[in-house]
Amino acid sequence: MSQINWSWIQSEPYQLFINGEFTNASEGGVFEIINPATNETIATGSDGTHGDIDRAVAAARAAFDHGPWPRMTGKERGRYLRRVADLLEANQEKFAFLEAADVGKTFARTLDYALPQAIDGFEYHAAKARELGGEVRQVPEGTFFNYHLWEPMGVVGEILPWNGPLMMACHKVSAILAAGNTVIVKPSENGSLTNLELAKIFAEVDFPPGVVNVVAGQNRELGARLVEHPAVDMVSLTGGTETGKKVLQQAAGTVKKVALELGGKNPNIIFDDADIEDAVQWAIYGAFADQGQICVSGSRLLLQQPVYEEFLELLVDKVSQLKIGDTMDDDTDVGPVITPAHEKKVLDYIATGQQEGAHLVLGGKKVTTTPLDKGNYIEPTIFTGVTPNMCIAQEEIFGPVVTVQPFQTDEEALEIANGVEYGLAAGIWTRDVDRAIRTAGQIRAGQIYLNSYFSPAMLDSPTEGHKYSGVGGAGIHKYMQEKSVFLRMK
Ligand code: NAD
Repeated sequence: MSQINWSWIQSEPYQLFINGEFTNASEGGVFEIINPATNETIATGSDGTHGDIDRAVAAARAAFDHGPWPRMTGKERGRYLRRVADLLEANQEKFAFLEAADVGKTFARTLDYALPQAIDGFEYHAAKARELGGEVRQVPEGTFFNYHLWEPMGVVGEILPWNGPLMMACHKVSAILAAGNTVIVKPSENGSLTNLELAKIFAEVDFPPGVVNVVAGQNRELGARLVEHPAVDMVSLTGGTETGKKVLQQAAGTVKKVALELGGKNPNIIFDDADIEDAVQWAIYGAFADQGQICVSGSRLLLQQPVYEEFLELLVDKVSQLKIGDTMDDDTDVGPVITPAHEKKVLDYIATGQQEGAHLVLGGKKVTTTPLDKGNYIEPTIFTGVTPNMCIAQEEIFGPVVTVQPFQTDEEALEIANGVEYGLAAGIWTRDVDRAIRTAGQIRAGQIYLNSYFSPAMLDSPTEGHKYSGVGGAGIHKYMQEKSVFLRMK
């Protein structure tokens, strides 16, 4: 708490960053940046328009086609990225504070987890810029010599969600730039503050004009403009599955590369031979960290019948002790959800669960005690009596709600785990290595945690979602394209 300084928030509107310069939005509008813990306006930002997206795309296009960035060596590009990492590190507390104030994450967890991850993105990709790969292939009978190269995609539009804006921007922008692309970052209308602050670091590092641009705004169509723009070579979206479907349609007209990291409804399977105490602890973290607003949250707990009662009793006991509180307090476990509209959506899901016949064993209500009543606080919520066909077992709630389902056999656990449209992540708890590996192999999801929930972010690990959870690859090569060169040997 002592490290926090509210004057880190600037009083004048945060500006867009286009072509190496800070600028007001072309129509002069501003939007309010609101703290979900109080619903008070804490800052304002220039409200970007389609015209601003067009300006940023023109700058990024010119920087890619004619500027030095894609023509530099990886080593030279890496030097810029390392400087971003250094400046982020020097300002860690400010960034953790801004992220907490803007999107309702707790300051302590943001400082402890998101900031090191964000810094690591730039450090990792600074080194990675020097080893982008390529391959030589033998051609039959020595008639041809063939090599293939990885090249940047060109101009990349990076569209971000509100639920981890700083870490996600840092991981993605660092990879995009290391690969030699130029980029337009389009933060979420509900989480742009740290991306706008990050633009100040981009300015200080003095990237060549147009290499990195940040255009925020309230109009959800800003993203669509980027996707449909003929001068954008690739669009990468992290967001909801419904948005991903729209992006695929919008991209069809310009046949551009699309990478989508989308929603999840992730099972966390507890087998009867698991270390129950350990599993309960991680299950709580998996389901309620950031109020369940994490794409890989373990929002469906599947408990094998012999340990069902023991696990549930411990779970309810420990979850009821979580401290709901101000995001800036060090001992807060559960903060607010992002907006009043999202709060309503989560509460509507809780009502639906009850109407569907699920049993609400804990929580389920908006917090109405002062001063938390001003913010978007929902009690950590546990449902039992959940059957696989219920809405609350199928749809991504993206709030502090966990459903609990019993199962008898390994086959039944797999059927429930795989019986949703999503395929992002899963947890598996067992002391039996064969069972762990066999189950991991049979779950249709891109990330599996064995005897854990969540993992350290591995920047080149292929964590692409399966099924409706994503498409388009992971790591730096997601932002690159291959070229194959054939030389005829005379
Ligand atoms: P969202 O889909 O509402 O918005 C994401 C971004 O897309 C925003 O910047 C928004 O302005 C933009 N957008 C909206 N409509 C668009 C359109 N038609 N064309 C282009 N852009 C458009 O998602 P959100 O509520 O900000 O974020 C939460 C969602 O993101 C959850 O579903 C979560 O699971 C998912 N998510 C996934 C991952 C992952 O790695 N798979 C990571 C974080 C969040």
